[in-house]
Amino acid sequence: MRTRLSQLALAALSLAAAAPATAVGLPEYGTFGLDLDARSTAVKPGNDFWSYANGGWAQRTQIGPTMDAAGVTVLMHENASSNVRRIVEDMARQPAYGTAGQQIGKLYLSWMNEAAIEARGPAALRPYLARIQSASSHAAVQALFAEAGYASPLAIEPDVHPADPRRYILNIAQGELGLPRDYYLKEGGEYARVRSAYRAYVRQVQELAGMDGAEAKADAIIALETALAKVHWTMAESREQSKTSNIETRASLEAKYAEFDWTRLLASYALPPAAEVLVMQESAVKEIGRIVAATPVQDWKDYLAYRFISDHAESLPASFANARFELYGRTLAGLQSRPERWKRGVQLVNSIFGEEVGRIYVERHYPQAASRQMRELVEDVRAAYRDRISASSWMDSATRQKALAKLSALKALIGGPDSYPGRAAGAIEKDDLLGNLVRADAAARKRGAERLHKPVDPAEWLVTPQTMNAYYDYHSNAIVFPAAMLQAPFFDPRADAAVNYGTIGALIGHEMGHGFDDQGRQYGADGTRENWWTEASAQSFQRRADALAAQYDHYQPLPGAQVNGKLTLGENIADLSGVEAAYAAYQSYQKRHGKAKVLAGLSGEQRFFMAFAQGRRAKVNEAAMRQLLVIDTHAPSLFRVNGTLRNVDAWYRAFNVQRGDAFYLAPAERVHIW
Ligand SMILES: [Zn+2]
Repeated sequence: MRTRLSQLALAALSLAAAAPATAVGLPEYGTFGLDLDARSTAVKPGNDFWSYANGGWAQRTQIGPTMDAAGVTVLMHENASSNVRRIVEDMARQPAYGTAGQQIGKLYLSWMNEAAIEARGPAALRPYLARIQSASSHAAVQALFAEAGYASPLAIEPDVHPADPRRYILNIAQGELGLPRDYYLKEGGEYARVRSAYRAYVRQVQELAGMDGAEAKADAIIALETALAKVHWTMAESREQSKTSNIETRASLEAKYAEFDWTRLLASYALPPAAEVLVMQESAVKEIGRIVAATPVQDWKDYLAYRFISDHAESLPASFANARFELYGRTLAGLQSRPERWKRGVQLVNSIFGEEVGRIYVERHYPQAASRQMRELVEDVRAAYRDRISASSWMDSATRQKALAKLSALKALIGGPDSYPGRAAGAIEKDDLLGNLVRADAAARKRGAERLHKPVDPAEWLVTPQTMNAYYDYHSNAIVFPAAMLQAPFFDPRADAAVNYGTIGALIGHEMGHGFDDQGRQYGADGTRENWWTEASAQSFQRRADALAAQYDHYQPLPGAQVNGKLTLGENIADLSGVEAAYAAYQSYQKRHGKAKVLAGLSGEQRFFMAFAQGRRAKVNEAAMRQLLVIDTHAPSLFRVNGTLRNVDAWYRAFNVQRGDAFYLAPAERVHIW
């Protein structure tokens, strides 16, 4: 809950060859940073600006067989991943990298040694399944919920205290299921198809592990998950901070949620009796408690065994990994084949030793010059927000002062963190892949438990520098741009200013906008959850937010599958306020540096909006799109562009968009937040 990542989180893992070297002085795309061949100039901008800017690209581009999407984020991810591969290989080979390098080398070997994994077969599972078999009571089952490697109907982890951003609090939330919630509950051919594939998968992985009665157990397992899904909150409900910040004491937790064995569930956290905890989805946690108590011990054991095998299928013999790919890759994400083994191995190493890799990533791939340019862009966009908030017609002056104070206090973390505390991953053995993963999970949990008793470090990064993403953190009031996000076409020091303002400028504006979106506005300048709004200003904001949500509710990317305006509201507010602030920042850039020349027949303003549309282009296959519509807080690429720009007056002027064009909105219907 602490972060809100900005890009497609689900683009399948892949790595490709390094991007072609760029000639010094020339941007990566075209002569000034735009991909002019990507356009489809036959399309009228007001009818479909996304296609006007990207139609040619969309026509030519195929989604790779190991991918669920194609587009800018996929390319940048591939580029960052091939950089990570070289770092991992160097660290594994060169003695200069010390213990971390040796551990990385051993972990990578344990992944790559397929012959050893096949030879060991399902026997690798034995000690873990035996632990499940030895459980003979609900209490013993709940002890397993709290152990590394095993699934749990509750997700328990420390997060920043909403009322005091200097300390942590233990968060208790509904756990994850094998499928996203809607797939258990919704009617319709596509959901039925996935459910039937899921049932076959649950049966198959048990059979591969040599378990008896897999058919009947699959039915009981899915019935259990369906019961849990029914009491789970939706994604849209779960993102509402006002409903998910329920503080309990240890005593009130035990009284209200008495079906759980809290002594066992919280054993590793050493919570003092007076400690507070936070319950996120109250009604769901309550009902999950009833389900825990009402479900026979044997059913829980079958469920835990199935989940252990499924969650670790990638580190088991190929028959397990292939079964998992068929469900999660092919059926749910529309992939045709899986990425090569080494690519997944690099990703695995990166997920466990991300900090060690990240330190070197920044050294190699984040030049100081880029850092200076980014700082300037951030301050320009901040200044634009300052002007817009100051001039806002709907906010009263008391609320405006608070908003400006929050904006001034907002921090920008760029490239990578100042320090990289090495992180223990547990013992790494070159011939025990499954054990390595379970021990790494245990080490990560131990770290989580320890941080609960330490003050929050406001300079801590929640992602590694090689993560292709950016985020806003409510609790530290900071925007964070990892090094991997700062590459073309998002950021190209050699590109025309209009292009950088339209891409990275709009993204900086987007992240700043999260500080003032429907959830971010509930936090103050120092990251404390507080109401700093007068009633009148809050109502004015709400009217604007509701109008924007209503616009997005109308978009239908697939027959019968709508965008969820409420689920995507925070991102859509951030997109809209981000592009408006970046546009204003570009105007002040032109005031300082002179009016931009026309390039390739395009004015600076036109290039700005083209860059915005090209920076957000993505093509997602149908299965993945269906899944994203229920789990992703971002709207699909098409509407992140067209749905945003139809509210922006300057876009109408730049492209002469008129009444009668498909995305035209009358001025009174356009939503302006800032
Ligand atoms: Zn965002």
